[in-house]
Amino acid sequence: MKSKSMRGSKEMVEIKVDRDKCTGCGTCADTCPVAVFEIKDEKSVPVKPEECIVCRACEVQCPEGAIQVIE
Ligand code: SF4
Ligand code: SF4
Repeated sequence: MKSKSMRGSKEMVEIKVDRDKCTGCGTCADTCPVAVFEIKDEKSVPVKPEECIVCRACEVQCPEGAIQVIE
């Protein structure tokens, strides 16, 4: 179990993209306010998960339900 006591410092958020579901539509890259995602080879790749502010816009907007943001 991960401790929640580290709040305030840069805690790593895990962002999972299900590559089988992802169509590379780019919605997550367009939606994310801090540019966590890049589309590479028609799949979304969370290249900067450390920037994530856990707004969950990507989870909500992904039409395939391919993204999971895990705190
Ligand atoms: S919004 Fe979903 S389907 Fe579209 S590129 Fe991002 S992860 Fe893939
Ligand atoms: S939760 Fe928000 S900040 Fe984090 S990757 Fe998704 S859209 Fe970007």
